[in-house]
Amino acid sequence: MAKVVVLGGGVSGHTAALYLERMLKDDHEVTVVTPNSKWNWIPSNIWVGVGKMTTKQVTFDLAPIYKRKGIKFIQGLATEIYPEGTSNHGNPFVKVKMTSTAQNGQLDDVEYDFLINATGPKLNFGATQGLGPAANSLSVCTAKHAAETADQLEKLISEMKNGEQKTLVVGMGHGTCTCEGAAFEYTFNVEHELRRRGVRENARVVYLTNEAELGDFGVGGMVFEQKGRKVTSAQWTESIFNERGVEAILGAHVEEVTENEVRYEQLDGSRSSIKFDFAMLLPPFRGVDLKAFDHEGNDITELLFMPNGFMKVDANYTSKSYDEWSSEDWPKTYQNPSFDNIYAVGIAFSPPHQISKPMTTPNGTTIAPAPPRTGMPSGVMGRVAAESIVDRIRNGRITKDHEASMAAMGAACIASAGTGSLKGTAAAMTMYPIVPDTKKYPAGGGRDLKNTTGDIGLAAHWTKAMLHFLFIYKAKALPFWYLIPE
Ligand SMILES: Cc1cc2nc3c(=O)[nH]c(=O)nc-3n(C[C@H](O)[C@H](O)[C@H](O)COP(=O)(O)OP(=O)(O)OC[C@H]3O[C@@H](n4cnc5c(N)ncnc54)[C@H](O)[C@@H]3O)c2cc1C
Repeated sequence: MAKVVVLGGGVSGHTAALYLERMLKDDHEVTVVTPNSKWNWIPSNIWVGVGKMTTKQVTFDLAPIYKRKGIKFIQGLATEIYPEGTSNHGNPFVKVKMTSTAQNGQLDDVEYDFLINATGPKLNFGATQGLGPAANSLSVCTAKHAAETADQLEKLISEMKNGEQKTLVVGMGHGTCTCEGAAFEYTFNVEHELRRRGVRENARVVYLTNEAELGDFGVGGMVFEQKGRKVTSAQWTESIFNERGVEAILGAHVEEVTENEVRYEQLDGSRSSIKFDFAMLLPPFRGVDLKAFDHEGNDITELLFMPNGFMKVDANYTSKSYDEWSSEDWPKTYQNPSFDNIYAVGIAFSPPHQISKPMTTPNGTTIAPAPPRTGMPSGVMGRVAAESIVDRIRNGRITKDHEASMAAMGAACIASAGTGSLKGTAAAMTMYPIVPDTKKYPAGGGRDLKNTTGDIGLAAHWTKAMLHFLFIYKAKALPFWYLIPE
């Protein structure tokens, strides 16, 4: 009987665990180690953050799902990996610190034959002084953060109803942040809510981002063909900002957030600040705090992980200039090069480089949006890693390619710009591939013009709302869940 352990019960890990169970049935053991008792559909945290959904609507308990599916559930935090075992353990294992109320703080060693690291990001608020809910700014990264942010927004709206003028700053809390799409969504959901509540006139809404231009979204922007004319995502996004009266501060690295001020440096090296009454700024991501040790107990963390804490996989990590980057650098199987029974999927794997062109200010500050690894590719990677493992368990080797390169994968992103069944709106974008290939698609800036599209309107909002229910249905592993694509 093979033991497959999945670290992280989020988008990619939970997907991997469900497919593993479906393909392996009861013949083998599938275990999920994850610190929270609940699963969270993170994209809908945006709606929690404007008070349009509750935390209950975007989360559910994992234990009953895993019990029904015969998946072993360990509520805990993986802290150390021993890929060669130790003198006490013949098999590889992971050290886990329990987080449930009943077992809090207890330690356990969880043995594996195959390991999937799907631990997502560490929300690195500490990278910027004063950033984050424990300091001076708000977040929507977790359902709890989003609910707290909604309370602050509500308070602000009451004050605006009394005629007070307020400045709301939404965006990226560091020059190397990712998830610009999420900050864009939250900006326009807030703007929509202010209008709906009749206080828009009293608000200055500012989007502050590390993107060099609007519409970059950490993927270097897109080119769409609309009515036979080429439109860039920069032009397309700019028109939304103009229409909704939202100001933008571009190419910014936030240096510090004080009680009421964001201090930042921009690409030209200038330093400025903006006073705020409400600031929702996303943190940069890094890998979670996992260490690795060899059979003798020597630290081999550097063998498994990059300095940013993300896990090394089958990518080409050779240091190259932007002009030398190739779509071939991107990983396909997500297998660790040193230990081929370890995979890293979703945000947990280390990308070979950015997708947007990284820039440096005259003061030497790097301003470089990190590549997004959104829900759809994360789910696909989870499924593909599960398929590889099942193939190896069943056949003792890989019998066919199980690959999911972001350079050969499309993504659909629907960015909500305000909720409501009649007045809601969203920007729907599809891109193929996610990582541009300028040799293959020179006319479309590295992407296929037929499969790279942008559309905005009520229909896109309905699609976004429908996806919320479909993905929660899938994650609950309800009948025929596997027919819903990632
Ligand atoms: C505000 C926001 C809005 C977003 N909106 C969208 C959107 O509209 N569309 C979209 O496609 N994507 C969106 N994303 C991105 C999407 O959430 C991610 O792509 C996705 O969650 C990545 O999946 P993952 O499995 O890598 O990480 P996660 O889903 O974050 O899962 C990681 C899991 O690992 C667990 N974990 C952490 N440390 C450990 C440890 N040491 N041991 C064990 N487990 C651990 C975590 O608790 C978590 O359960 C958004 C992200 C944010 C922050």
